[in-house]
Amino acid sequence: MRPVDRNLVEDLVAANRILASRGILDGFGHVSVRQAERPDRFLMARSMAPALVTADDIVEHDLDGRAVASGISTYLERFIHCEIYRARPDVHAIVHSHSPALIAFGVVESTPLRAVCHTAAFLGTCTPVFEIREAAGPATDMLIRSPELGRALTQSLGSSPLVLMRGHGSTVVGANLPQVVYRAIYAELNARLQSEAMRSGAVTYLTEDEARLAAETNDGAIGRSWELWRRAI
Ligand code: MN
Repeated sequence: MRPVDRNLVEDLVAANRILASRGILDGFGHVSVRQAERPDRFLMARSMAPALVTADDIVEHDLDGRAVASGISTYLERFIHCEIYRARPDVHAIVHSHSPALIAFGVVESTPLRAVCHTAAFLGTCTPVFEIREAAGPATDMLIRSPELGRALTQSLGSSPLVLMRGHGSTVVGANLPQVVYRAIYAELNARLQSEAMRSGAVTYLTEDEARLAAETNDGAIGRSWELWRRAI
């Protein structure tokens, strides 16, 4: 592997462990970060459980999904990361997870996931859902295991921060690791809150203006959460 930014590697290891410790990632799922000085390359762990990732496990990938060092086993669904980085220059970090409360919103067409709480304001008023059957027909193993499926997922994501994947999980994007970790944690929390609230009665959601203004405020304070989470692992 070429020399890479050691601080970025340490932050990526921390992101893996934070997300695992909070139940967003388990044995599966992955988090990646784009390299500032080489935007066509990103860093991600080799194929392994996120809670066990150390700096030695971080591998440089190109946008075709190849590990730059040979002989390393990489995640099957690495094309999620490749194709989003290719299409979205604003994205510098990505989390793909199977966090459970979000999955419920990918399977009920009539109920979009949307912000019920100011901490998850980045979700706005509607969240896109990726239907793999539209891209690959009715008989897949549900995984994003090719560049074509990565591109179809990226198309569903559009300019949103998060795309739900029907019957599978979700993918969330951000401008940096602290922001994407924050979004992965608070999207799952919002899904739990929204489900609970819907069981109790008609829900009052954040409006578009409330969501936009609260998201701006939160973005200025994400460092506080990141410091706390880094310290706690
Ligand atoms: Mn998956």
